[in-house]
Amino acid sequence: MSQIIPYGKQFITDEDIQAVVGTLKSDFLTQGPKIVEFEKAFAKYVEAKYAVAVSNGTAALHLNAIALEIQPGDKVITTPITFAASANCVRYCGGEVIFADIDPNTYLLDINSVKELLQNSPKGTYKGIIPVDFAGRSVNLEEFRGLCDEYGLWLMEDACHAPGGYFVDAQGEKQFCGNGLFADLAIFSFHPVKHIAAGEGGMITTNDEKLYQKLLSLRTHGIVKNDSLYTNSIDFAGGKETYPLWYMEMQELGYNYRLTDFQAALGLSQLSRANEGVEKRRQIAERYYEAFKNATFMIRQSGIVEGHAYHLYVIEVEDRLGLYNHLRENHIFAQIHYIPTHLMPYYKQFGWKEGDMPNAERYYRNCLSLPMFPSLSPDEQNKVINVIQEYYNG
Ligand SMILES: *Cc1c(COP(=O)(O)O)cnc(C)c1O
Repeated sequence: MSQIIPYGKQFITDEDIQAVVGTLKSDFLTQGPKIVEFEKAFAKYVEAKYAVAVSNGTAALHLNAIALEIQPGDKVITTPITFAASANCVRYCGGEVIFADIDPNTYLLDINSVKELLQNSPKGTYKGIIPVDFAGRSVNLEEFRGLCDEYGLWLMEDACHAPGGYFVDAQGEKQFCGNGLFADLAIFSFHPVKHIAAGEGGMITTNDEKLYQKLLSLRTHGIVKNDSLYTNSIDFAGGKETYPLWYMEMQELGYNYRLTDFQAALGLSQLSRANEGVEKRRQIAERYYEAFKNATFMIRQSGIVEGHAYHLYVIEVEDRLGLYNHLRENHIFAQIHYIPTHLMPYYKQFGWKEGDMPNAERYYRNCLSLPMFPSLSPDEQNKVINVIQEYYNG
């Protein structure tokens, strides 16, 4: 039996393994020096000021939702074409998720459908927007920032698909995903199918020092260990002129969302090859694009877009089910990203129904994510292309 070609997978080198083993032999298993190193290197990579490592991307979303003070009933706008967690974080805090449709050409949250929502409600109705750099294509955050400023909203970028991706702003400058210039907070995931694999893991990036400090505390139970922040007296704490060394305060309700030091070591080692990975992904995208650019069965494909980080290579085709099954028979496991979140039974109970997001629903009927990962060999990619062409052309 030939080997299965999945839609995505991690790429682990001997260097990665040595990095993990090195940490296992050190004094730190959970949060230690590798966390700080990973955070600094990651912040530098995406050109943000601060980074906070957490246990996974969903934990990153949850902490951001708390840091942005989402309250029960608060309305937050996001896209239906994303992993459910982008919306779920609003629910964790009791907020209300309001979906807005995608742009059928970019598959990203359509700023015009967001504008329409904002213009048709009294100011103050919405609290924030969570756009997603879907498939690795960066949202134009400069435009979203403008809208957020006009309506007094916060902006949280779900950049799980896009470390190393960027968009070009109105001044012609490259703005890297998660760089904190336009969004208040951004999140990343280190799940094995993402660009940088750490088993599980997540990262929050921001340029806002207050949010940064708050996230550090929320990540570990809301506990602070910093003399200048204590609210109880030195006398109560048991000290004389200064707080005793054992002293700490739990000042708000936090969680244990720490990343381990050996995961950070793996993430750090992977990060050192991140640019190569994005470059490989772009080459794979170019080969798909060339192979299918004149194909009559192709409704649309991701194509070649500047700054696209190609977490996914999405095609829209006729007879998607037939192609999907044919690929599987040939041991090629393509995938669907995503079943629209607003039509998940959990969200339907809030009144969302078919027809609410016509672009997203139309996209879902035809979309398919082809194998896309840096270690995909040219032979494997040729097989994928040939099997697809053979399915439609016989
Ligand atoms: C993977 C992913 C998440 C969640 O990350 P986990 O690390 O799996 O919790 C959130 N949003 C998007 C868009 C993702 O792709």
